[in-house]
Amino acid sequence: MNTTTFQFFNKTVDYHFDGSFAQLEELVPKDTAIIITDENIFRLYQQQFTGWKIIVIKAGEVHKQQATVDNIIEQLIALEAGRDAFIIGIGGGVVTDITGYVAGIYLRGVAFGLLPTTVLAMVDAAIGGKSGVDVGLYKNLVGLIRQPSFLLFDYAFLQTLPQEEWTNGFAEIIKHAAIKDATLFEWLEVQETATIKSDPILLSSLIQRNVMIKTEVVVEDEFEKGERKLLNFGHTFGHAIENLYDLPHGHAVSIGMVMAAKISEEMNNFYTEDKQRLIALLEQYGLPVKYEIDKERVFEILKKDKKRVAENVSFVLLDAIGESSVKKISLVQLQDLLNQTL
Ligand code: NAD
Repeated sequence: MNTTTFQFFNKTVDYHFDGSFAQLEELVPKDTAIIITDENIFRLYQQQFTGWKIIVIKAGEVHKQQATVDNIIEQLIALEAGRDAFIIGIGGGVVTDITGYVAGIYLRGVAFGLLPTTVLAMVDAAIGGKSGVDVGLYKNLVGLIRQPSFLLFDYAFLQTLPQEEWTNGFAEIIKHAAIKDATLFEWLEVQETATIKSDPILLSSLIQRNVMIKTEVVVEDEFEKGERKLLNFGHTFGHAIENLYDLPHGHAVSIGMVMAAKISEEMNNFYTEDKQRLIALLEQYGLPVKYEIDKERVFEILKKDKKRVAENVSFVLLDAIGESSVKKISLVQLQDLLNQTL
């Protein structure tokens, strides 16, 4: 386990890289700890969880809703969890998002830590303290920004991760490269998932590099006044279509990135050739790059986007591969772009 500590606004967070689940006991007193996980992880790893108090939720985005939170809270009460309770989320982004949210509101806030088990959660969802749930079709409409005490990275969990979840994770990796890291983008262009999966050193360094990209952005702008908005590249359209068409998060973000790249080409002089490189890279990692959408329904959801202030949406555009910026786009203009460009 190699540990790096990051200072956020009012909290330090320990990142334990190259760790293992067995080390959890060194980080949290077992008697006050309560694990939240989902049914898939529980089924695969229940032997390891012996001796831990555990709450198991249903798997999948459709359960990232307030009803699941209420159910967890009832179980916390039944377990007599007090202010000294320490909640640990073990799972993908659905579990880490719900765990952070529950820990933030239960008894007005108890400590929590996260052990992400998908690539997507390791490189993105578990990092940066954003947590929350969807409200019907609207993604992450309710939630908090509150940092965990620690993140524990145990790559062994990835051995059971289905291929489609690897693909999903690569959407956020490609997003990081596209907005911030041209060298990573070029590196990804000459790699493939199979090689990365089978080489623990390559995998660990890829995950750490992505963790660092996100962490540096969040440390600089935890409450999303500026720089952090860049991480939403592909997410304005991505979030609008994710629940509407029941798409995996990474697929929705991939399609959203292509839509945003087209708008960047239209509004920001982003080179057509670089747009093609982005599309080719997404395809190389098995991600979808287009989807037949009902523009009117998508626009209805876009109007509820969290990044909307008055009649404007903060929209992330690419300036070049590895460079991005945020522009305010009015809802009217966005609707035109949706109808004409996409
Ligand atoms: P997920 O949590 O639904 O996990 C995907 C699937 O993989 C689930 O079926 C899960 O049970 C299974 N799984 C997880 N780990 C496994 C393992 N090791 N072995 C076998 N199966 C495993 O989805 P996700 O893609 O990890 O996360 C997507 C969620 O993350 C979305 O809700 C998204 O909004 C959220 N997210 C949050 C942030 C943030 O900053 N908070 C950032 C990005 C994404």
